Amino acid sequence: MRYEGRIFRPPSEARSLILQATIGCSWNHCTYCDMYRDKTFRVRALEETLADVRAAGSAFGEDVRKVFVADGDALVLDLEHWEAILAACRREFPRLERVSAYATAMNLNAKAPEELAQLRSWGLSLLYIGPETGDEVTFKRIAKGAGFQEHVEAARRAKDAGIALSAIFLLGAGGTDRAQEHAEGSARLITAMDPEFVSLLTLTVVEGTPLATLSARGRFELPPVPALLAELRTVVALARPTRAVFRTNHASNYLPLAGTLPDDRARIVQVLDAALRGEVRLVPESARGL
Ligand code: SF4
Repeated sequence: MRYEGRIFRPPSEARSLILQATIGCSWNHCTYCDMYRDKTFRVRALEETLADVRAAGSAFGEDVRKVFVADGDALVLDLEHWEAILAACRREFPRLERVSAYATAMNLNAKAPEELAQLRSWGLSLLYIGPETGDEVTFKRIAKGAGFQEHVEAARRAKDAGIALSAIFLLGAGGTDRAQEHAEGSARLITAMDPEFVSLLTLTVVEGTPLATLSARGRFELPPVPALLAELRTVVALARPTRAVFRTNHASNYLPLAGTLPDDRARIVQVLDAALRGEVRLVPESARGL
């Protein structure tokens, strides 16, 4: 496989074949994100992408169960690209169970319902989408490009097409001044989007990002660890998804948790209360990652 620049994928795609069909992120404005700042967005030449699929097929095609299509928001690809890529994956990987990609609300809302249904029928079965918050003020501050209603609409479109959603939220994204609104809004948005998977990451202020500049000027303050745990507690206590696999296993988090909401809500809240009382060992700062 040939890769250009740094490659990112969700923790649950650790064992997936990563196929780079786009370079960078078509939005690339979120103030906290440095993942693709060094890349100018472009769609990779289809022939190159298909050549990678063929090469992977010859080398270990029987072993590939999951494919993650990178980079930042590969759903932006047009249907012609998707049709060819998904057909090649089905051909080269006979045991393929799942194809997934990152998506933005803008990508999802730009596709017609019948286009999304086609993508599902060709094998695209899971999208990772990162609203990060459910608070309108925070959406604007982090330059997410879409707000609460756009994310609800995006989730509805995915659901109608039968594509599962993994929604990602970001502890600390509201700063100290919007922490409560950010946590409560995130819980409301989880309820409204009703995704199959929910994960929470913890914000890190990364050098070179607009957020780092705001932070240096005193216009953004990352909440301290206990406040981040309190945000997480609020989200878990208030969110009402029908049934969502819940994870905080990303390397950025201080407390890895796992379960299903709503079934494990009480247990997870108990663990968080114990952590807030200082009774649970947290991941040390030196062991955290982005
Ligand atoms: S949409 Fe995702 S990849 Fe693109 S800038 Fe925002 S956080 Fe980064």
